[in-house]
Amino acid sequence: MTSEKFTVEKVLSIQRWTDNLFSFTMTRPAHFKFSAGQFARIGIMVDGELIVRAYSLVSSPYDEVLEFFSIVVPDGAFTSRLQHLKVDDELYLEKIPYGFLTLARFQQPAPQDLWLLATGTGLAPFLSMLQDFDTWKNYQQIFLVYSVRTAAELAYVDKIQDIHASFGENTPDFHFIPVITRDSNAILHERLPVLIQNGQLEKIAGHAFNLETTHIMLCGNPQMVDDTKEALKQRGLVMNRRGVGNIAVENYW
Ligand code: FAD
Repeated sequence: MTSEKFTVEKVLSIQRWTDNLFSFTMTRPAHFKFSAGQFARIGIMVDGELIVRAYSLVSSPYDEVLEFFSIVVPDGAFTSRLQHLKVDDELYLEKIPYGFLTLARFQQPAPQDLWLLATGTGLAPFLSMLQDFDTWKNYQQIFLVYSVRTAAELAYVDKIQDIHASFGENTPDFHFIPVITRDSNAILHERLPVLIQNGQLEKIAGHAFNLETTHIMLCGNPQMVDDTKEALKQRGLVMNRRGVGNIAVENYW
């Protein structure tokens, strides 16, 4: 059964950000095509049983390897094992990608200002989108809002700057807005729904949400996703259905 649905891939590199956060790359089989924002299903074989979890792709659809950004849940069936991953280890990869958190889902309004709001590893699909040239071509303003608990958890900051330098050459209006919820000295440190309700997020961005122009994606912690969605609805934005509307979301658990 497994051999039909999965291929076996090799781990190529590992980067540890904190005790509970790491990234890894693996080989990409030629058949595995995906759109920025989609997720893969990755498996580990444990005592003859395959444990599988969803993982957003960090890499761009054009990269030669597949990159992922992972939490470590100490008692988690998958990540308590995945955290011990080494270069050359084998992982199972389901042959097809999944998911609808892609920019193609936004038909109306037409692309203009794009807000990408992540908590923790929910950053992953947005890194993929930001490495896709179409994203930079289609939007005039891009706001990447990345909420973590501590500054040490702000992974990929150098990469975000590199991406902006290489993809956003002709798009000066890119704003990277970190939020550090356990650091009261951070410029932004409240939860995302609060920052929307009190207007601080738009103030820092220098840009207001607009029913006629805004596309906004939320990814990560389901409580953040739900509360933020409600705060945005109160501002008049609507869920994207059948291509129409402002808000698209993905919950990680
Ligand atoms: P689980 O039994 O799966 O989860 C146990 C608990 O851990 C959850 O109830 C929740 O409280 C917490 N938890 C789970 N995932 C996270 C997380 N990412 N951050 C913080 N707390 C968490 N996880 C990633 O690390 N990176 C990804 O790119 C990613 N992409 C996902 C995409 C989709 C569409 C979905 C549905 C989930 C995604 N996840 C991602 C979550 C991932 O599938 C697993 O839940 C996670 O790897 C933990 O697996 P586990 O078996 O160790 O614990």
